[in-house]
Amino acid sequence: MRKQIAAANWKMNCTYQQGEQLLDEILSANIELKAHQQTIFAVPFPYLIMAKSETEEENNYFVAAQNCYNKKSGAYTGEVSVEMLQSIGIQFCVLGHSERREYFQESNKMLAEKLDLCLQYNITPIFCCGEPLNIREAGTQNSYVETQLKESLFHLSDADIKKVVIAYEPIWAIGTGKTATSEQAQEMHAFLRSVLAKQYGTTTADAVSILYGGSVKANNAKELFSCPDVDGGLVGGASLNAGEFITIINSLK
Ligand code: PEP
Repeated sequence: MRKQIAAANWKMNCTYQQGEQLLDEILSANIELKAHQQTIFAVPFPYLIMAKSETEEENNYFVAAQNCYNKKSGAYTGEVSVEMLQSIGIQFCVLGHSERREYFQESNKMLAEKLDLCLQYNITPIFCCGEPLNIREAGTQNSYVETQLKESLFHLSDADIKKVVIAYEPIWAIGTGKTATSEQAQEMHAFLRSVLAKQYGTTTADAVSILYGGSVKANNAKELFSCPDVDGGLVGGASLNAGEFITIINSLK
């Protein structure tokens, strides 16, 4: 079975102490993940080591960075390299979140470079894609998202694409309380898988986990995750509440 993943995206929230308490509360629920299930906490850079040590003893609990730079090292004041992340044992990195694309002008090309570096350093990229509201209203969401995949992922080898986790996040559903219906999510996830299959074949496409993101909450996670092509979620707001996120983890297939 494909990996089923509950990924928390804290964004720029929580003090160190609040973050530590949130992790303690979630981990003290002692949810035993099955072999095909994972929980990932994408926390701000200053909390990576703390989150790593909190989750160290737990089976299938991991920590992710929320971003990295697209250059190996050098005179890029304020940036964080993939090698730095690897050197503190980080195994996942969120790439191309719509907030990064919008506020920091991250292009598909720049994301392809970040992806390559992550794979080079054995860090699993969680690659975000998704359309804005005007594209959804125009009905052209499929070709919009297909282009994001083509321009950032399709230079990868068959072996490397299987290491990538994709997160489909319709921008109109992020932080808005407006969730895609499970039909809309399933339709897009099946489409993304068909795009992968066209490029890499069905065996490879079937191996790639595709998460849904956009106002996932305790009360809708089960229905969304039960869709055959939805392999869990990337969760913003609701991941900051221990009770909500525990229910979301428990909603994984
Ligand atoms: C996100 O930040 O990736 C996200 C999906 O946010 P929210 O769950 O708050 O919509």
